Amino acid sequence: MTIQELESQFTSGVYTKRPIALVRGKGARVWDSDENEYVDCVGGQGSVNIGHANPAVAEAIAKQAQTLITCPEMFYNDRRAELEQKLTSIAGMPRVFLCNSGTEAVEAAIKFARLATKRTGIVAAMRGFHGRTFGALSATWEKKYREPFEPLVPDFSHISYNDVASLDEAVDHKTAAVLLEVVQGEGGVRPGTAEFLTKAQEICRDRGALLILDEVQTGFGRTGKMFAFQHYGLEPDLLCLAKSMAGGFPMGATLIGTRLGAMPSQVHGSTFGGNPLGCAASLAAIDFIERNQLADRAAELGAWFMGQLKQIESPLIREVRGLGLMVGIELKQKVTPYLQELMKHGVLALPAGLTTLRFLPPLVVEQSDLARVVEAVASVLSQEIK
Ligand SMILES: *Cc1c(COP(=O)(O)O)cnc(C)c1O
Repeated sequence: MTIQELESQFTSGVYTKRPIALVRGKGARVWDSDENEYVDCVGGQGSVNIGHANPAVAEAIAKQAQTLITCPEMFYNDRRAELEQKLTSIAGMPRVFLCNSGTEAVEAAIKFARLATKRTGIVAAMRGFHGRTFGALSATWEKKYREPFEPLVPDFSHISYNDVASLDEAVDHKTAAVLLEVVQGEGGVRPGTAEFLTKAQEICRDRGALLILDEVQTGFGRTGKMFAFQHYGLEPDLLCLAKSMAGGFPMGATLIGTRLGAMPSQVHGSTFGGNPLGCAASLAAIDFIERNQLADRAAELGAWFMGQLKQIESPLIREVRGLGLMVGIELKQKVTPYLQELMKHGVLALPAGLTTLRFLPPLVVEQSDLARVVEAVASVLSQEIK
């Protein structure tokens, strides 16, 4: 029996799968069970900025696993203390809650915002994606994720992204927080404009609401800065992180800004949150990003990559857009057949919405590998697939 047959027999069924089984990775490349090699622009959906099989993270995990894997937050811990200091220092925000995924980071931010403001309203954006648990799902826009599970959490509303007037109208004395991605990921790789994001912060401040930025996908160097909000000089009240936070190990965090104090005790928690294994992985991953200046690398390679993609002449392309190494090509058609075709050319990429091809390569990717991607994209988009 093949890996694919075995998994198909027992999986929940909630994922649409591609037909290959990945068994090994190194840097920006992965291999399937038939030893076919791919340039990996899925990058663990953006969770492997430091590259597959990163030796620094592998070593930190192995060492910590032999020392102390788990330690609930009722006790202090050396690795956790170090990571909290590191995260708050790189984000310029004084406190942190640690968890295990993106949706949990968003869930915590929503709860903290309601607690701190004693208000209930959450204003999110159309095409926004924030996760699959009920709070985060209530902030998520896409109907097919939401509708099967209604009724969702009350008092969530959606404005049109990059539209100051629509935001201005939605935020009032009942608004606990405005929750935004700095670059919308799942929703089609749409960078926020400086005007919209700075205005959002201003409107929140003026009306006693909090600004929650969801940088689960944009964080840890992806867009050319350690965090995307740093492009715009923003000061979020709550910052949601996960994906590349621990080099591919499951980990999330909600950072708490200067306008909020510490949260009251017992109001939230997580058994595995802040576990020493994740903290050790995250410390090693952040150290690797800093030592190798991966944010600068993402800015340079991303600009080059987008420039190359923009030169592709294809009637199928509507727009190329992105920030750093978070890059999208919006097509005039559905992307699925083109993703399948790219795979045959040795390139793994993601969809974003129905019509955008999304590229989230590890930031250690070689320029020559990105050149291979450009070539494959040009070839695949040279003619329409029916
Ligand atoms: C992936 C993602 C999430 C959800 O993260 P999970 O770890 O899958 O729960 C939330 N917000 C954004 C912006 C994301 O890209």
